[in-house]
Amino acid sequence: MTAPSAFQPAPRQGEEALERDLRPAGFGDFLGQDALLSPLQLMIQASKERRETLEHLLFSGLPGLGKTSLALALANEIGAPLKVTSGPAMERAKDLVGILSSLEAGSILFIDEIHRLPKVVEEYLYGAMERFCVEFTLDQGVHARLLKLEIQPFTLVGATTREALLSAPFRSRFGQVFRFEPYSPAALELILARSAGILGLESQPEALSLLADHSRGTPRVANRLLRRARDVAQIEGNGKLDQKAVRRSFELMGVDSFGLERTDRRILEALALNEGRPLGLKNLAVVVDEGEDTLECVYEPWLVREGFIARTPQGRILMEAGWKAIGQTPKQGVQPSLDLE
Ligand code: ADP
Repeated sequence: MTAPSAFQPAPRQGEEALERDLRPAGFGDFLGQDALLSPLQLMIQASKERRETLEHLLFSGLPGLGKTSLALALANEIGAPLKVTSGPAMERAKDLVGILSSLEAGSILFIDEIHRLPKVVEEYLYGAMERFCVEFTLDQGVHARLLKLEIQPFTLVGATTREALLSAPFRSRFGQVFRFEPYSPAALELILARSAGILGLESQPEALSLLADHSRGTPRVANRLLRRARDVAQIEGNGKLDQKAVRRSFELMGVDSFGLERTDRRILEALALNEGRPLGLKNLAVVVDEGEDTLECVYEPWLVREGFIARTPQGRILMEAGWKAIGQTPKQGVQPSLDLE
């Protein structure tokens, strides 16, 4: 038998658990997105007055912009039961039928990554979205019977990072598409101040502003940077979050003065190695050892927005700011060539 240890560590708060704690509970905490909240609140009020279930909604935008958070806040605001699942989790029609038949009237069904829903499941969902019933055939040939399963009225909230992958018939069944845009630094500062408060972290406004400037318009990135800076403040400082702690955490994470992280620099360097010629997504993904989806949805949008790289029909190219950021002079006179993918 081992002797009981005097030191009892508290359970480690995983990144996921921390992210959950920082999630807005209602619309009041969902900061910096009035352009989304105003029309949504109007829809809620109108459907309430008509005593109808809220129409199905599609939330579209890059990862970390708050699609899941808004769906959860919405369910809290209208006091609706919430069921959460994701496209890849529903492999067969049976999985969908199981979820649909368990819904209470007025529920919100949140399906994350809805573009990854298998086609056959998607088609069953159509009837559920339109008529609140699912029809399916049992047996085959002369014994075939059409069964109809009635479902309680519900609101489907789908979230996608790849709206273009949704078929037109699927998209047309949503009452409204809400497109999430990157946040302004001012909005991110508000989010960071709220998160710091929840984490019980005393912070200087200048430190939060520095974090906001490096958060790529994305609350999830902002919260991640905040947690790393909190570690530094705790271990190397006096526990308070100041600019020094933030700068030191950037240094430890490999964030440079351009705001580029290691993977960003690997992307720029891969494009530079190609001598300025366009490089296709597949090849780039192999060179930097990241998934194509991650490159497209997580890294590239910000690099493009900041003018470090550009996407062309032939592939990705390095722009002047990109050459400068890795300390190289642009290769002149190289003609874009077709990338062999
Ligand atoms: P998505 O579903 O779009 O990938 P999430 O809803 O998971 O993004 O958001 C990631 C984290 O960012 C959340 O845990 C939450 O803490 C924070 N967040 C996102 N949007 C907001 C917002 N508008 N206000 C406050 N915090 C936000």
